[in-house]
Amino acid sequence: MNAQLKVVSESYYAHQKVYPREVDGRFAHLRVLSVWALLGIFYLLPWLPWGGRQAVLFDLPARKFFIFGIVFWPQDFIFLTWLLVIAALLLFFVTAVWGRLWCGYACPQTVWTETFLWLEKFAEGDRSARQKLDRAPLSARKLARKSLKQFLWVSFALWTGFTFVGFFTPIRTLSAEFLAFNVGPWETFWVLFYGFATYGNAGYLREQVCKYMCPYARFQSAMFDRDTLVITYDTERGDPRGARKRGTDPRAQGKGDCIDCTLCVQVCPTGIDIRKGLQIECIACAACIDVCDDVMDKMGSPRGLIRYTTQQALEHKPSRLLRPRSLIYGALLTTLVVGFCAAVYMRNPVALDVIRDRNALYQVRDDGHVDNVYTIRILNKSEHAQRFALNAHGASALTLLPRMAEYSVPSGEVYSIPVRVRRATYEPLGAETITFELGSLDDANVHVTTRARFLAPTR
Ligand code: SF4
Ligand code: SF4
Repeated sequence: MNAQLKVVSESYYAHQKVYPREVDGRFAHLRVLSVWALLGIFYLLPWLPWGGRQAVLFDLPARKFFIFGIVFWPQDFIFLTWLLVIAALLLFFVTAVWGRLWCGYACPQTVWTETFLWLEKFAEGDRSARQKLDRAPLSARKLARKSLKQFLWVSFALWTGFTFVGFFTPIRTLSAEFLAFNVGPWETFWVLFYGFATYGNAGYLREQVCKYMCPYARFQSAMFDRDTLVITYDTERGDPRGARKRGTDPRAQGKGDCIDCTLCVQVCPTGIDIRKGLQIECIACAACIDVCDDVMDKMGSPRGLIRYTTQQALEHKPSRLLRPRSLIYGALLTTLVVGFCAAVYMRNPVALDVIRDRNALYQVRDDGHVDNVYTIRILNKSEHAQRFALNAHGASALTLLPRMAEYSVPSGEVYSIPVRVRRATYEPLGAETITFELGSLDDANVHVTTRARFLAPTR
């Protein structure tokens, strides 16, 4: 019983704050570059004008998404679904080939945590200064440093929340409202909500989001195989570990290359020891590679004791980039991306739906003519009102009633009209497939057709 309790209590040990040591190196530079690029896109994109309006704006009240001159309507939801499938498949492909590249360089949690760490370092100093400050009793200096950090964090988090809302409400209008203290309750709520989420996740939760909350960390191992690029400590080369003098041969002392300096643990933002093998907590940030390369340089040993490699390579077998998994993901991804681009390019700014009248299959008139009744729905997805003309034709002679009608449909509106298609002469032809043709009278390029069944007696 006591042993059980001990196991349970050890499973729920108190969280230990991680103080990652700063690191310099090739991969750190790459991450800084990636953080700047992604933050730049996020904070500047809503300010970018395009054709007289915001380049990217998800206007929910108007139910329109503006993306670089293209307007998407709720009826274009299929494109959003398509895009999500592409994003998921891209993640699968990248993970299968390059491991957790997304986590280390592009995940918002990594990007914002890195930025909050920069602000923390600016206010409180480097790793040892931060540890010392946390251990020190409350003093004017400690209060000043902590207050400065909180001020920077809160300001940055609020700016993030404001920018996020700026993707849904025109950001220039939003800033004017903020300056005039006249912001709507929903905008205020979302700025605070998103700001608070950023503050909490990047300021306090940090590596715990990756360890305990992120679903991707849970299932990414299912996408790994023996040829996937992972960050690994080379046990064969590094063990047995132990201190030695600079420039001496470790083999002559019965040791491996690892001098057991623990710097790879100190720089790790999730606080793990990569020398224990591949772990779910590793976000593949490559900080341990940079610091270990630095140590190897100083010790006069070759770099790469911790490196990007594959399980195959570690076992001295050749690694394959082209393998069934990467080929299948790659082929699917290419097909979906090409299909998506083609579909967006050929997207029609007008949609035409034809719905048959369910109450009567057909009507045979006294003069022998046969009528079918339909409801026509015209959706004008363009940005201006348009006049449309409708036509119907098939194998037999057909007349559309009302004749020569012209329908004016405002931008973004759906226009429903009942129409009657008359087979002009009675012949026992039975049913046939007919085509409705809708053309814009204002734009000769706008033209759409839809097929429907025309029912009639056979004799
Ligand atoms: S940084 Fe390199 S040498 Fe130092 S403990 Fe880690 S693996 Fe060993
Ligand atoms: S083990 Fe290395 S690559 Fe993994 S999270 Fe820690 S420092 Fe980053």
